Amino acid sequence: MESLDAFARGKLARLTEEHLRRELVPTARSDGVWVERNGRRLLSFSCNDYLGLSQHPRVRQAAVDAIEKCGTSAGASRLITGNHPLYVELEEKLARFKGTEAACVFGSGYLANAGIIPVLVGPDDLLLIDELSHACLWAGAQLSRARVEIFAHNSVEHLCDILSERRSNFPRALIVTDGVFSMDGDLAPLEVLSSIARAHDSWLMVDDAHGLGVIGGGRGTAFAGDKHVAIDLQMGTLSKALGSYGGYLCASRPVIELVKTRARTLVYSTGLPPATIAAAIAALDIVASDPELTERPLRKARRFAKLLDLPLPESAIVPILLGTPERALEASRTLEADGFLVTAIRPPTVPAGTSRLRFAFSADHSDDEIERLALVVRRTILEPR
Ligand SMILES: *Cc1c(COP(=O)(O)O)cnc(C)c1O
Repeated sequence: MESLDAFARGKLARLTEEHLRRELVPTARSDGVWVERNGRRLLSFSCNDYLGLSQHPRVRQAAVDAIEKCGTSAGASRLITGNHPLYVELEEKLARFKGTEAACVFGSGYLANAGIIPVLVGPDDLLLIDELSHACLWAGAQLSRARVEIFAHNSVEHLCDILSERRSNFPRALIVTDGVFSMDGDLAPLEVLSSIARAHDSWLMVDDAHGLGVIGGGRGTAFAGDKHVAIDLQMGTLSKALGSYGGYLCASRPVIELVKTRARTLVYSTGLPPATIAAAIAALDIVASDPELTERPLRKARRFAKLLDLPLPESAIVPILLGTPERALEASRTLEADGFLVTAIRPPTVPAGTSRLRFAFSADHSDDEIERLALVVRRTILEPR
């Protein structure tokens, strides 16, 4: 067998050759949209802190107060001694905001999906997943060992075909999808998915990491339309628009109680630091009381798209597809030279041939900055020379 180092070096060399190697770049954020990288200040369109709440004085103060009072760590998993009373407050507020009976907070969004799905379905069950779902839904699907069927992106026809053909062979079926697709910014057709789930005696789980705080008056994709769509399992993260850290599930009380007693990523992982929970509570209070703030990221995204004649965005995320990883990296470097941070997104995060720039808009981006960005994008990427 080759040595471990030789194995790693060989693998890295191949990734470098294919322009698929990734590197961590030290990046300091000190306000909502400006970052410091390689000694330069760059205007970021790659942060998911959509409302700038990670820098909001009330959110920061809540975290500072919690550290002063409780220190820096939970000390143990939630089921042992790590279940700080702040968890109760946050879970009650999340459930109320999302219109469910109860909620459960996890260590991160990734841990939430990896923990929830295996509690609900197992090797005898059927799991249907949109092909563009986030990596952690796939991780949960794999950990569950359920029979996984992939449906074409947002194709209700394909989903129905699979259900008609296969549903009756399995005792339970779970449909999972992103609410806002993280790399494309489009929304899942939740109203139709919810009725399909009901018609085929299946459960529906939606990962709304990019919907909370941004869509439906901040309450998420289920609230985007005129009427609220009933979704069995509303999952999301505290790490994006809420500017904190952690994941959550909002659902009925029995489901939440089952998840709290069985989800391995909750049972066997340390609770969140109290300061992180306190920050999320403060941020959620701001989101719930300021719907105008939550409308701003989408408005900014639409302004940008309009300036470049791109399709009308449905969320704060706007992709510009460039094809090869090389082209995406090159475009990202070009923008960086002009003072903008827009990271290149490459496989396996997106399918081969669809490497792209992904622009994420924040309430804190000024219209002037967006106009300047659009001008540079048009000049250097869309219409070079
Ligand atoms: C970011 C993201 C997650 C993971 O959430 P974390 O709290 O960062 O672990 C899950 N799902 C989607 C769609 C995401 O974009």
